Amino acid sequence: MQDNYLRQHFPIMSAKVNGKSLIYFDNAATTQKPQSVIELSNHVYSAINANVHRAAHALAATATAKYEHSRRVIQSFIHAKNDEEVIFTSGTTESINLVADSWGRHFLTSEDEVLITHAEHHANIVPWQQLCEHTGATLKIVPLNKFGLIDVEAFQANLSEKTKLVAFHHISNVVGKVNPIKQLTALAKKVGSLVLIDAAQSVAHCELNVQDIDCDFLVFSMHKAFGPTGVGVLYGKKEILEKMPPYKTGGEMIKRVSLTQGTTFNKLPFKFEPGTPNIAGVIASAEAIEFIRDNCEHIYHQPLVSYLYDSLCSIDEVNILFDGCPDVGIFSFTINGHHQQDIAAFFDANGIALRVGHHCAMPLMEYLNIDGCIRASISAYNTRQEVDTFVRLLKAFLKHDS
Ligand code: PLP
Repeated sequence: MQDNYLRQHFPIMSAKVNGKSLIYFDNAATTQKPQSVIELSNHVYSAINANVHRAAHALAATATAKYEHSRRVIQSFIHAKNDEEVIFTSGTTESINLVADSWGRHFLTSEDEVLITHAEHHANIVPWQQLCEHTGATLKIVPLNKFGLIDVEAFQANLSEKTKLVAFHHISNVVGKVNPIKQLTALAKKVGSLVLIDAAQSVAHCELNVQDIDCDFLVFSMHKAFGPTGVGVLYGKKEILEKMPPYKTGGEMIKRVSLTQGTTFNKLPFKFEPGTPNIAGVIASAEAIEFIRDNCEHIYHQPLVSYLYDSLCSIDEVNILFDGCPDVGIFSFTINGHHQQDIAAFFDANGIALRVGHHCAMPLMEYLNIDGCIRASISAYNTRQEVDTFVRLLKAFLKHDS
Protein backbone atom coordinates (compact mmCIF):
# COMPACT_ATOMS: atom_id res chain seq x y z
CA MET A 1 0.00 0.00 0.00
CA GLN A 2 2.71 2.52 0.97
CA ASP A 3 5.21 3.39 -1.78
CA ASN A 4 8.06 4.52 0.38
CA TYR A 5 11.05 2.51 1.41
CA LEU A 6 12.25 4.89 4.16
CA ARG A 7 8.93 4.84 5.98
CA GLN A 8 9.57 1.52 7.72
CA HIS A 9 12.35 3.16 9.74
CA PHE A 10 9.92 5.56 11.46
CA PRO A 11 7.77 3.87 14.12
CA ILE A 12 5.43 6.87 14.51
CA MET A 13 4.24 6.37 10.93
CA SER A 14 1.89 3.66 12.16
CA ALA A 15 0.31 5.96 14.79
CA LYS A 16 -3.39 6.81 14.80
CA VAL A 17 -4.50 10.37 15.45
CA ASN A 18 -8.13 11.14 16.12
CA GLY A 19 -8.88 7.57 15.07
CA LYS A 20 -7.24 8.04 11.65
CA SER A 21 -3.85 6.94 10.32
CA LEU A 22 -1.43 9.79 10.94
CA ILE A 23 -0.39 11.81 7.91
CA TYR A 24 2.45 13.95 9.15
CA PHE A 25 2.86 17.06 7.00
CA ASP A 26 4.50 19.26 9.63
CA ASN A 27 8.09 18.33 8.92
CA ALA A 28 9.36 21.89 8.75
CA ALA A 29 8.39 22.24 12.42
CA THR A 30 10.18 19.06 13.39
CA THR A 31 10.89 15.79 11.61
CA GLN A 32 10.05 12.37 12.96
CA LYS A 33 12.83 10.13 14.28
CA PRO A 34 14.04 6.86 12.81
CA GLN A 35 14.25 3.77 14.99
CA SER A 36 18.06 3.92 15.04
CA VAL A 37 18.02 7.41 16.63
CA ILE A 38 15.39 6.38 19.19
CA GLU A 39 17.38 3.24 20.04
CA LEU A 40 20.66 5.05 20.47
CA SER A 41 19.04 7.64 22.70
CA ASN A 42 17.53 4.84 24.83
CA HIS A 43 20.86 3.02 24.86
CA VAL A 44 22.62 6.04 26.30
CA TYR A 45 20.22 6.17 29.25
CA SER A 46 20.10 2.41 29.76
CA ALA A 47 23.76 1.52 29.27
CA ILE A 48 26.26 4.40 29.26
CA ASN A 49 24.69 7.32 31.10
CA ALA A 50 27.28 9.48 32.83
CA ASN A 51 28.31 13.11 32.70
CA VAL A 52 30.85 14.07 30.07
CA HIS A 53 34.33 15.60 30.15
CA ARG A 54 34.82 15.49 33.89
CA ALA A 55 34.60 12.20 35.76
CA ALA A 56 37.36 9.68 36.39
CA HIS A 57 35.46 6.48 35.67
CA ALA A 58 34.89 4.19 32.72
CA LEU A 59 31.25 5.08 32.07
CA ALA A 60 32.07 8.77 31.89
CA ALA A 61 34.94 8.01 29.52
CA THR A 62 32.56 6.08 27.24
CA ALA A 63 29.93 8.83 27.31
CA THR A 64 32.58 11.45 26.62
CA ALA A 65 34.06 9.47 23.72
CA LYS A 66 30.62 9.07 22.14
CA TYR A 67 29.76 12.73 22.71
CA GLU A 68 32.99 13.84 21.04
CA HIS A 69 32.45 11.30 18.27
CA SER A 70 29.20 13.13 17.45
CA ARG A 71 31.09 16.38 17.16
CA ARG A 72 33.43 14.80 14.60
CA VAL A 73 30.52 13.26 12.69
CA ILE A 74 28.94 16.69 12.39
CA GLN A 75 32.28 18.28 11.55
CA SER A 76 32.76 15.93 8.63
CA PHE A 77 29.09 16.21 7.59
CA ILE A 78 29.30 19.99 7.17
CA HIS A 79 32.96 19.83 6.04
CA ALA A 80 34.28 22.06 8.84
CA LYS A 81 38.06 22.31 8.99
CA ASN A 82 38.25 21.01 12.55
CA ASP A 83 36.05 19.82 15.37
CA GLU A 84 36.67 22.85 17.59
CA GLU A 85 34.52 24.78 15.13
CA VAL A 86 31.44 22.73 16.05
CA ILE A 87 29.70 24.07 19.17
CA PHE A 88 26.72 22.19 20.61
CA THR A 89 23.81 24.38 21.68
CA SER A 90 20.15 23.72 22.42
CA GLY A 91 19.03 24.67 18.89
CA THR A 92 19.23 27.14 16.03
CA THR A 93 17.68 29.79 18.27
CA GLU A 94 20.40 29.50 20.87
CA SER A 95 23.13 29.35 18.23
CA ILE A 96 22.00 32.68 16.76
CA ASN A 97 21.60 34.25 20.20
CA LEU A 98 25.11 33.11 21.04
CA VAL A 99 26.58 34.94 18.05
CA ALA A 100 24.42 38.05 18.52
CA ASP A 101 25.33 38.23 22.18
CA SER A 102 28.95 37.23 22.18
CA TRP A 103 30.21 38.53 18.84
CA GLY A 104 27.64 41.30 18.47
CA ARG A 105 27.87 42.98 21.85
CA HIS A 106 31.65 42.81 21.72
CA PHE A 107 32.34 43.94 18.17
CA LEU A 108 29.37 45.99 16.92
CA THR A 109 29.18 49.80 17.29
CA SER A 110 26.55 52.43 16.56
CA GLU A 111 28.24 53.13 13.21
CA ASP A 112 27.67 49.59 11.97
CA GLU A 113 24.92 47.80 10.07
CA VAL A 114 23.47 44.30 10.26
CA LEU A 115 21.60 42.94 7.25
CA ILE A 116 18.79 40.39 7.34
CA THR A 117 15.88 39.64 4.98
CA HIS A 118 12.10 39.86 5.05
CA ALA A 119 11.76 36.08 5.21
CA GLU A 120 13.76 35.26 8.33
CA HIS A 121 12.39 33.14 11.15
CA HIS A 122 11.91 35.18 14.34
CA ALA A 123 14.99 33.39 15.68
CA ASN A 124 17.03 35.20 13.02
CA ILE A 125 15.34 38.56 13.56
CA VAL A 126 14.79 39.25 17.23
CA PRO A 127 18.40 38.62 18.42
CA TRP A 128 19.61 41.15 15.79
CA GLN A 129 16.89 43.65 16.70
CA GLN A 130 17.89 43.39 20.35
CA LEU A 131 21.56 43.69 19.46
CA CYS A 132 20.96 46.78 17.34
CA GLU A 133 18.88 48.35 20.11
CA HIS A 134 21.68 47.64 22.56
CA THR A 135 24.55 48.91 20.40
CA GLY A 136 22.81 51.60 18.35
CA ALA A 137 23.72 49.77 15.13
CA THR A 138 21.26 49.83 12.20
CA LEU A 139 19.26 46.78 11.12
CA LYS A 140 18.66 46.70 7.36
CA ILE A 141 16.15 44.45 5.63
CA VAL A 142 16.52 42.92 2.15
CA PRO A 143 13.36 42.14 0.12
CA LEU A 144 12.53 38.98 -1.79
CA ASN A 145 11.91 38.48 -5.49
CA LYS A 146 8.69 37.09 -6.95
CA PHE A 147 9.89 33.52 -6.39
CA GLY A 148 10.34 34.16 -2.68
CA LEU A 149 14.11 34.09 -2.96
CA ILE A 150 16.40 36.73 -1.49
CA ASP A 151 16.66 39.49 -4.11
CA VAL A 152 20.35 39.38 -4.97
CA GLU A 153 20.46 42.87 -6.50
CA ALA A 154 18.74 44.40 -3.48
CA PHE A 155 21.05 42.42 -1.21
CA GLN A 156 24.07 43.83 -3.01
CA ALA A 157 22.63 47.35 -2.99
CA ASN A 158 22.21 47.19 0.80
CA LEU A 159 25.81 46.19 1.43
CA SER A 160 28.43 48.80 2.28
CA GLU A 161 31.60 49.13 4.30
CA LYS A 162 29.27 49.72 7.27
CA THR A 163 27.87 46.18 7.00
CA LYS A 164 29.47 44.10 9.73
CA LEU A 165 27.25 41.04 9.61
CA VAL A 166 24.66 39.59 7.27
CA ALA A 167 22.39 36.85 8.59
CA PHE A 168 20.08 35.06 6.18
CA HIS A 169 18.26 31.79 5.70
CA HIS A 170 19.37 29.10 3.28
CA ILE A 171 15.86 27.65 2.97
CA SER A 172 12.90 29.54 4.40
CA ASN A 173 10.54 27.63 6.69
CA VAL A 174 7.69 29.29 4.79
CA VAL A 175 8.83 29.43 1.18
CA GLY A 176 10.83 26.23 0.61
CA LYS A 177 13.18 27.74 -1.99
CA VAL A 178 16.95 27.29 -1.86
CA ASN A 179 18.85 30.57 -1.78
CA PRO A 180 22.22 31.05 -3.54
CA ILE A 181 24.16 31.21 -0.27
CA LYS A 182 27.58 30.91 -1.84
CA GLN A 183 26.93 33.88 -4.12
CA LEU A 184 25.41 35.95 -1.29
CA THR A 185 28.34 35.10 0.98
CA ALA A 186 30.85 36.16 -1.67
CA LEU A 187 29.05 39.50 -2.10
CA ALA A 188 29.07 40.14 1.65
CA LYS A 189 32.76 39.23 1.88
CA LYS A 190 33.59 41.86 -0.73
CA VAL A 191 32.59 44.58 1.74
CA GLY A 192 34.33 42.77 4.61
CA SER A 193 31.16 41.61 6.38
CA LEU A 194 30.79 38.44 8.37
CA VAL A 195 28.12 35.99 7.22
CA LEU A 196 25.78 33.85 9.33
CA ILE A 197 23.63 31.29 7.54
CA ASP A 198 20.46 29.97 9.11
CA ALA A 199 20.48 26.39 7.86
CA ALA A 200 17.68 25.17 10.16
CA GLN A 201 15.69 23.87 7.21
CA SER A 202 18.69 22.73 5.16
CA VAL A 203 20.16 19.69 6.84
CA ALA A 204 17.15 17.50 6.08
CA HIS A 205 17.23 18.50 2.42
CA CYS A 206 20.73 19.02 1.06
CA GLU A 207 24.44 18.78 1.64
CA LEU A 208 26.29 21.63 3.30
CA ASN A 209 29.96 22.46 2.91
CA VAL A 210 30.93 25.37 5.14
CA GLN A 211 34.41 25.69 3.66
CA ASP A 212 33.07 25.85 0.14
CA ILE A 213 30.36 28.37 1.13
CA ASP A 214 33.01 30.30 3.09
CA CYS A 215 30.44 31.50 5.66
CA ASP A 216 31.67 32.56 9.10
CA PHE A 217 28.79 31.00 11.01
CA LEU A 218 26.22 28.37 10.12
CA VAL A 219 23.49 27.23 12.49
CA PHE A 220 20.96 24.41 12.60
CA SER A 221 18.86 22.19 14.88
CA MET A 222 19.12 18.42 14.86
CA HIS A 223 15.39 17.91 15.50
CA LYS A 224 14.64 19.18 11.99
CA ALA A 225 16.94 16.55 10.52
CA PHE A 226 15.68 13.27 12.04
CA GLY A 227 17.59 13.91 15.27
CA PRO A 228 16.61 14.59 18.88
CA THR A 229 15.11 17.83 20.17
CA GLY A 230 17.28 20.10 22.29
CA VAL A 231 20.45 19.80 20.20
CA GLY A 232 21.65 22.64 18.02
CA VAL A 233 24.87 23.30 16.19
CA LEU A 234 26.81 26.49 15.84
CA TYR A 235 29.56 26.22 13.25
CA GLY A 236 31.98 29.13 13.46
CA LYS A 237 35.36 29.78 11.92
CA LYS A 238 37.94 29.08 14.57
CA GLU A 239 39.75 32.41 14.30
CA ILE A 240 36.46 34.26 14.89
CA LEU A 241 35.21 32.01 17.71
CA GLU A 242 38.55 32.44 19.45
CA LYS A 243 38.12 36.21 19.56
CA MET A 244 34.58 36.00 20.92
CA PRO A 245 33.98 36.23 24.69
CA PRO A 246 31.95 33.50 26.44
CA TYR A 247 28.18 33.68 26.01
CA LYS A 248 27.00 31.85 29.11
CA THR A 249 29.25 31.08 32.03
CA GLY A 250 29.53 28.31 34.60
CA GLY A 251 31.07 24.89 34.88
CA GLU A 252 33.06 23.26 32.09
CA MET A 253 33.65 26.46 30.10
CA ILE A 254 36.44 27.55 32.46
CA LYS A 255 40.13 26.77 32.71
CA ARG A 256 40.60 28.11 36.22
CA VAL A 257 38.33 29.85 38.72
CA SER A 258 39.79 31.79 41.61
CA LEU A 259 37.98 34.07 43.99
CA THR A 260 41.08 36.21 44.29
CA GLN A 261 42.53 36.06 40.76
CA GLY A 262 39.36 35.77 38.69
CA THR A 263 38.44 33.24 36.01
CA THR A 264 40.16 32.10 32.83
CA PHE A 265 38.23 30.30 30.12
CA ASN A 266 38.49 26.91 28.50
CA LYS A 267 39.60 26.45 24.88
CA LEU A 268 37.20 25.87 21.99
CA PRO A 269 34.69 24.38 21.73
CA PHE A 270 34.19 24.08 25.51
CA LYS A 271 34.35 27.85 26.07
CA PHE A 272 30.85 27.96 24.57
CA GLU A 273 29.43 24.84 26.20
CA PRO A 274 28.84 25.64 29.88
CA GLY A 275 27.09 23.20 32.20
CA THR A 276 25.87 19.68 31.49
CA PRO A 277 24.84 19.40 27.84
CA ASN A 278 22.11 17.27 26.26
CA ILE A 279 24.37 14.23 26.32
CA ALA A 280 21.95 11.59 24.99
CA GLY A 281 20.67 14.03 22.38
CA VAL A 282 24.13 14.88 21.11
CA ILE A 283 25.17 11.23 20.99
CA ALA A 284 21.98 10.22 19.14
CA SER A 285 22.50 13.11 16.70
CA ALA A 286 25.38 11.17 15.16
CA GLU A 287 22.92 8.44 14.28
CA ALA A 288 20.59 10.98 12.61
CA ILE A 289 23.50 12.16 10.47
CA GLU A 290 24.39 8.56 9.58
CA PHE A 291 20.75 8.00 8.65
CA ILE A 292 20.88 10.97 6.27
CA ARG A 293 24.17 9.79 4.79
CA ASP A 294 22.92 6.24 4.27
CA ASN A 295 19.69 7.41 2.63
CA CYS A 296 20.70 10.65 0.99
CA GLU A 297 19.50 9.71 -2.47
CA HIS A 298 15.96 9.33 -1.06
CA ILE A 299 16.20 12.28 1.30
CA TYR A 300 17.72 14.82 -1.08
CA HIS A 301 15.64 14.00 -4.16
CA GLN A 302 11.95 13.88 -3.48
CA PRO A 303 9.66 13.39 -6.49
CA LEU A 304 6.72 14.07 -4.16
CA VAL A 305 7.57 17.79 -4.16
CA SER A 306 6.51 18.36 -7.77
CA TYR A 307 3.63 15.89 -7.33
CA LEU A 308 2.20 17.89 -4.42
CA TYR A 309 2.83 21.15 -6.28
CA ASP A 310 0.92 19.97 -9.35
CA SER A 311 -1.89 18.65 -7.14
CA LEU A 312 -2.24 21.95 -5.27
CA CYS A 313 -2.03 23.97 -8.50
CA SER A 314 -5.01 22.00 -9.82
CA ILE A 315 -7.25 23.50 -7.10
CA ASP A 316 -8.49 26.97 -8.07
CA GLU A 317 -8.98 28.25 -4.52
CA VAL A 318 -5.39 27.49 -3.49
CA ASN A 319 -2.87 30.34 -3.69
CA ILE A 320 0.67 29.10 -3.14
CA LEU A 321 2.85 31.92 -1.81
CA PHE A 322 5.30 33.14 -4.45
CA ASP A 323 5.80 31.88 -8.00
CA GLY A 324 7.06 28.44 -8.93
CA CYS A 325 7.42 25.05 -7.34
CA PRO A 326 9.32 24.95 -4.03
CA ASP A 327 12.76 23.35 -4.21
CA VAL A 328 12.07 21.30 -1.07
CA GLY A 329 8.85 19.99 0.41
CA ILE A 330 7.67 23.17 2.14
CA PHE A 331 4.38 24.52 0.74
CA SER A 332 2.66 27.58 2.16
CA PHE A 333 -0.64 28.74 0.79
CA THR A 334 -3.88 30.52 1.49
CA ILE A 335 -7.31 29.34 0.42
CA ASN A 336 -9.84 31.79 -0.96
CA GLY A 337 -12.81 32.23 1.32
CA HIS A 338 -11.57 30.01 4.16
CA HIS A 339 -9.76 30.82 7.34
CA GLN A 340 -6.61 28.82 8.09
CA GLN A 341 -7.85 27.79 11.53
CA ASP A 342 -10.92 26.08 10.00
CA ILE A 343 -8.72 24.21 7.57
CA ALA A 344 -6.36 23.11 10.36
CA ALA A 345 -9.24 21.84 12.51
CA PHE A 346 -10.71 19.91 9.58
CA PHE A 347 -7.41 18.23 8.74
CA ASP A 348 -6.58 17.51 12.36
CA ALA A 349 -9.91 15.70 12.72
CA ASN A 350 -8.79 13.60 9.75
CA GLY A 351 -5.40 12.71 11.25
CA ILE A 352 -3.42 15.11 9.07
CA ALA A 353 -0.85 17.28 10.84
CA LEU A 354 -0.40 20.68 9.17
CA ARG A 355 0.72 24.01 10.51
CA VAL A 356 -1.23 27.24 10.16
CA GLY A 357 -0.49 30.77 11.31
CA HIS A 358 2.50 33.05 10.93
CA HIS A 359 5.12 30.27 11.15
CA CYS A 360 7.38 32.44 13.33
CA ALA A 361 7.75 34.74 10.34
CA MET A 362 5.41 37.64 11.15
CA PRO A 363 7.43 40.14 9.10
CA LEU A 364 7.00 37.91 6.05
CA MET A 365 3.24 37.76 6.64
CA GLU A 366 3.23 41.56 6.94
CA TYR A 367 5.28 41.84 3.72
CA LEU A 368 2.71 39.67 1.95
CA ASN A 369 -0.18 41.48 3.62
CA ILE A 370 -1.72 38.28 5.01
CA ASP A 371 -2.42 37.35 8.62
CA GLY A 372 -1.12 33.83 8.17
CA CYS A 373 -1.16 30.84 5.88
CA ILE A 374 -1.40 27.06 5.78
CA ARG A 375 1.82 25.06 5.56
CA ALA A 376 2.12 21.48 4.39
CA SER A 377 5.71 20.30 4.71
CA ILE A 378 6.65 16.84 3.55
CA SER A 379 9.65 14.65 4.16
CA ALA A 380 11.29 11.61 2.65
CA TYR A 381 8.99 9.20 4.52
CA ASN A 382 5.78 10.69 3.16
CA THR A 383 4.01 8.93 0.34
CA ARG A 384 2.07 9.61 -2.83
CA GLN A 385 -0.97 8.01 -1.16
CA GLU A 386 -0.73 10.52 1.67
CA VAL A 387 -0.56 13.40 -0.80
CA ASP A 388 -3.58 11.95 -2.63
CA THR A 389 -5.53 11.65 0.64
CA PHE A 390 -4.62 15.20 1.60
CA VAL A 391 -5.68 16.61 -1.77
CA ARG A 392 -8.88 14.54 -1.85
CA LEU A 393 -9.83 15.81 1.61
CA LEU A 394 -8.95 19.37 0.68
CA LYS A 395 -11.21 19.14 -2.36
CA ALA A 396 -13.95 17.61 -0.20
CA PHE A 397 -13.58 20.48 2.24
CA LEU A 398 -13.95 22.91 -0.63
CA LYS A 399 -16.91 20.86 -1.84
CA HIS A 400 -15.08 19.82 -4.96
CA ASP A 401 -15.33 16.15 -4.16
CA SER A 402 -17.25 14.18 -6.70
N1 PLP B 1 15.28 29.24 11.54
C1 PLP B 1 14.44 28.59 10.72
C2 PLP B 1 14.52 28.83 9.24
C3 PLP B 1 13.51 27.69 11.25
O1 PLP B 1 12.68 27.04 10.43
C4 PLP B 1 13.48 27.49 12.66
C5 PLP B 1 12.46 26.60 13.24
O2 PLP B 1 11.38 26.44 12.72
C6 PLP B 1 14.39 28.18 13.45
C7 PLP B 1 15.27 29.06 12.87
C8 PLP B 1 14.42 27.97 14.95
O3 PLP B 1 14.79 26.65 15.21
P1 PLP B 1 14.70 26.06 16.71
O4 PLP B 1 13.30 26.31 17.17
O5 PLP B 1 15.02 24.61 16.54
O6 PLP B 1 15.71 26.78 17.52
